[in-house]
Amino acid sequence: MSVSMFSALLNADKTHPPRAGVSNLTAAEAEKAVSGNLCRCTGYRPLVDACKSFSADVDIEDLGFNTFCKKGLPCYDHTLSSQVCTFPEFLKKELKSLDDDPRKYRWSSPVSISELQSLLGLENGVSVKLVAGNTSTGYYKEEKDKKYDRFVDIRRIPELTVVRRDEKGVELGAAITISKAIEVLRENESVLILAKIAAHMEKIASRFVRNTGTIGGNIIMAQRKHFPSDLTTILVAARATVKIMSTGSGVQEQYTLEEFLQRPPLEAKSVLLSLTIPSWRPMKYSPLNTHLLFETYRAAPRPLGNALAFLNAAFSAEVSLNKAGDGVVVNDCLLAFGAYGTKHAHRAKKVEDFLAGKVISDEVLLEAISLLKDEIVPDKGTSNPGYRSSLAVTFLFEFFGSLTTNSWLNGGCKEPLKPVAMLSSAQQIVENQEYSPVGKGIEKTGAKLQASGEAVYVDDIPSPENCLYGAFIYSTMPLARIKSIGFKENRVPEGVLGIITYKDIPKGGQNVGTKGFFASDLLFAEEVTHCAGQIIAFLVSLL
Ligand SMILES: Cc1cc2nc3c(=O)[nH]c(=O)nc-3n(C[C@H](O)[C@H](O)[C@H](O)COP(=O)(O)OP(=O)(O)OC[C@H]3O[C@@H](n4cnc5c(N)ncnc54)[C@H](O)[C@@H]3O)c2cc1C
Repeated sequence: MSVSMFSALLNADKTHPPRAGVSNLTAAEAEKAVSGNLCRCTGYRPLVDACKSFSADVDIEDLGFNTFCKKGLPCYDHTLSSQVCTFPEFLKKELKSLDDDPRKYRWSSPVSISELQSLLGLENGVSVKLVAGNTSTGYYKEEKDKKYDRFVDIRRIPELTVVRRDEKGVELGAAITISKAIEVLRENESVLILAKIAAHMEKIASRFVRNTGTIGGNIIMAQRKHFPSDLTTILVAARATVKIMSTGSGVQEQYTLEEFLQRPPLEAKSVLLSLTIPSWRPMKYSPLNTHLLFETYRAAPRPLGNALAFLNAAFSAEVSLNKAGDGVVVNDCLLAFGAYGTKHAHRAKKVEDFLAGKVISDEVLLEAISLLKDEIVPDKGTSNPGYRSSLAVTFLFEFFGSLTTNSWLNGGCKEPLKPVAMLSSAQQIVENQEYSPVGKGIEKTGAKLQASGEAVYVDDIPSPENCLYGAFIYSTMPLARIKSIGFKENRVPEGVLGIITYKDIPKGGQNVGTKGFFASDLLFAEEVTHCAGQIIAFLVSLL
């Protein structure tokens, strides 16, 4: 949590200096930064509160504690971030090409594509593993035990860390981390697709995985091992292309990501060089009032933090007003779904074909949904198949549903006004009036006494002089006949004063433990026990 929080503080909005004592981080960003931590023990919320106390938009008093400065600890000083220890410059100069025989080493770190090529071309029969962020070993645990002859760290190859922007689109080197890719895409925030992709990428794993894991690593995991990737689904919808360098020959080939995912698993010595997200251009015969809509979706067990999706989806649609001006026509659309229990991200092509050229109406949407149900079907053995399929329908409806109301004309696809999920250790009572008074908050008995520290606990009461202690003796067997009760070797342990059974109940008393409406339970088992765990006797002792 500390490392994630530290990284979030360093990367907080740098456009203007923050207020004294806090950073430009928002409380929502602070919460998001640490959301990858899976622990949800009672200490979690106060820890999240502590992280939020760095942010400028939080009322510290609301979080239930005072600022650190008030407690004598130093306030947050954003200027100190420049003193953060990074990889020392003088060591960077030490990074050299391999001027010696690379076969001497198990780990290599080539600094150019040609060097990588010669490494991969070394003797046949040598098993090689390309390594970027190496986060995949966190998911594929068996990878840790696999034996490779050689490991090649590809992160220092300039061609693999390239960022190129031109009118054709954005090209990102495969060894760029997910965090860096988000930063690059955010620089083009005005471009809808890029902003949406960046926003979705922030939901991948946790900050520390995103800071190390690369886009190339993610795509290869999806291509080779059918990993339920978010990245590939959204990039298929964005019509991304990939550049591959083939084993040995060094020949470079370009595929659409969709084609690449369907190809046989990439060979161990082939390299994914880069990924390109093309700029959107309206179709050739599209009318002038054409808009591009792009949206991504994801449903996972937790909204923030490490949780793979039950299903993810990304849709792009080129739409325009029909001639009469009373409806929205879908000129073209691309509907990608992934992580729902298929090998790769999948396009709902029948639905795409059906919608092309249609004016969006309730009837058209219903027909599209019924086609979709047949297309998005999880593979046999996938957990929660019904739920996953229903998510596909929900997301499709959410995307196209707004077009029937022409809401897109008022600015197109806007962020939905969903409340930001916020946690706090301060008391939060969510009341639901629907079945009132069921759902109404009630005060916990003794809460005030406990919270004020006035509650008296039995363990805290000093024992009176000659206090006696007692313990129940339970049956370990059901339907067991009790022949006698005694001590091992007939020796009474020190301090034991006696054993009370049903036979000791005074005349006129009843052997009743709890009384119910219909029946009562015995206090002590009599001759035969009813069940294991039934009380047989009560032992009284001085100690
Ligand atoms: C806890 C956790 C949660 C995650 N949650 C999500 C999630 O919600 N959504 C999601 O989409 N992803 C998720 N991921 C996946 C994550 O995005 C990937 O682990 C990461 O992107 C892989 O990148 P890497 O650089 O660490 O790859 P590495 O582990 O270094 O490599 C992965 C594989 O790809 C190969 N490889 C890497 N780069 C290249 C290349 N350029 N050319 C050829 N082969 C290459 C390697 O040889 C290796 O076989 C999660 C991962 C973890 C550990």
